[in-house]
Amino acid sequence: PGPQLPHDPSKKNIVVLGSGWGATAFLNALDTSEYNVTVVSPRNYFLFTPLLPSVAVGTLSTRSILQPTRYVTRHKNRAVKVIEAEAQSVDVASKTVSFIGKSAVSERSSQLISRLDNSDIQGSVSSTTIPYDYLVYAVGAETQTFGIPGVKEHACFMKELNDAEKFQRRFLDCLESAAFPGQSEEEIDRLLHMVVVGGGPTGVELSGELHDFLEEDLKSWYPELAGRIRITLVEALPSVLPMFSKRLIDYTMSTFKESKIDIMTQTMVKEIKERSVTLAMPDKTVAEMPCGMVVWAAGNRNRKITQDLMAQLPADQTNKRGIAIDEHMQMKGSGGSIFAIGDCTASSHAPTAQVASQQGAYLARAFAQRAKRDALEEQAQASTTAEDTKKALGKVKIRPFAYSHQGTLAYIGSDKAIADLPLLNGSLAAGGVLTYYFWRSAYLSTLFSLRNRTLVATDWVRTKVFGRDVSREW
Ligand code: FAD
Ligand code: NAD
Repeated sequence: PGPQLPHDPSKKNIVVLGSGWGATAFLNALDTSEYNVTVVSPRNYFLFTPLLPSVAVGTLSTRSILQPTRYVTRHKNRAVKVIEAEAQSVDVASKTVSFIGKSAVSERSSQLISRLDNSDIQGSVSSTTIPYDYLVYAVGAETQTFGIPGVKEHACFMKELNDAEKFQRRFLDCLESAAFPGQSEEEIDRLLHMVVVGGGPTGVELSGELHDFLEEDLKSWYPELAGRIRITLVEALPSVLPMFSKRLIDYTMSTFKESKIDIMTQTMVKEIKERSVTLAMPDKTVAEMPCGMVVWAAGNRNRKITQDLMAQLPADQTNKRGIAIDEHMQMKGSGGSIFAIGDCTASSHAPTAQVASQQGAYLARAFAQRAKRDALEEQAQASTTAEDTKKALGKVKIRPFAYSHQGTLAYIGSDKAIADLPLLNGSLAAGGVLTYYFWRSAYLSTLFSLRNRTLVATDWVRTKVFGRDVSREW
């Protein structure tokens, strides 16, 4: 790419919070000629979440599903500032965002930031406040714990990259501890019992991937243990995967039965202890289930920064699920300066990557229209006789967002996937090995770059030929 234009003080400032699905789709599609853009996110990369369970079990390597945010922004004609920092607060009245640098060498980075903006350096922590004309708010959500005791202390989540890495370490720790000489039979059974909480797509996909790991690799590496490993999926509702059609739910249940993954429905986890989970059973009794490790995939909740932002607009922001937005992605009550997309919003759509990325791309197109409209408005104000300009202005329309559902896919292990796909006149529900190849090709083509596609495809071949790596890093 050629040299990029610098930020121009006469242009409006867009601050983007986040580097996930929504923010990355927005940055990919945005024409930066008319705006100064700054991205603030605690991770300086995009994470391809659908393949996170594959990283957790070592089918894919970590780097294959990451894309540095600067890979996206370097192609823009006006330079985009990318700041690795966690936003702490948004001030709606003064149109500012405050954030804290995350870097381990934050003293140095805070000094650098302070030269750019009016910063407030405290010891080695850098905290900075920057103004925005438009805020694109795409901070996603965090994992819901419902305040259940022991979840944060003893369970692994499956949302961020470090969750997958923590999962891998814990799982291999359970295996090595079970293989330790002299371990009691009871303790071996406990260590080799993996409990997944939440029968949504995250819990189901992880259970399927875990099963593959056991079937394809552990039988070779730990033959004495492989037959004793158990996976239990616990779901509070009467069925797993409520977003899929009944036929595919039944197909998943029967595939899990064949794979010896136990599904406990209408069972709610009440507490997680170091060595067990406490369950409220369907018959209302309470049971204690020993286990070596628990993965918690019980859904989303709002981040604190989102709750604080909503609290500044109490009259318009009353939806407990997230930020209320209009059909142009504008946060209700924000006066047109804050746009929210993705999992942090409460809309009629499910919190999925598909929705977040379509919203991000839509918003980028809307900003192009907004720039045209602003320029024509300026011209029209400068001359009262410019009828052509006024006519042209009337033609600049910012259309509302329209979601186009491309279908729902999930991997269920044993080289099988399920897919609910919309067709012109109806829908198609498919499950099995062919769907799995469709799942693979769909995700491969959705990966943002050729580099990531190549890395993921190479990893799949590597795993098929050499198996997964069971060496444990501390
Ligand atoms: P995210 O992608 O979560 O991005 C949020 C961004 O905000 C991140 O970069 C984060 O670092 C940043 N951030 C957080 N806090 C702050 C802060 N204080 N300041 C600044 N930045 C901040 N959906 C599908 O459609 N298909 C799938 O197959 C699928 N598979 C999934 C598998 C897993 C394991 C998981 C966990 C989710 C999956 N999803 C899938 C859901 C999908 O990942 C989310 O809906 C999607 O990530 C939402 O995009 P987002 O941009 O709103 O949030
Ligand atoms: P989810 O909200 O879809 O499912 C969480 C499940 O956990 C719920 O079914 C809930 O009943 C259960 N649960 C909650 N508390 C419990 C408890 N104490 N005991 C037992 N069960 C409990 O969450 P998810 O699977 O993380 O998905 C989050 C979002 O991401 C969804 O919108 C989903 O569609 C999307 N996603 C999509 C895919 C895909 O399309 N392949 C994959 C992963 C996630």
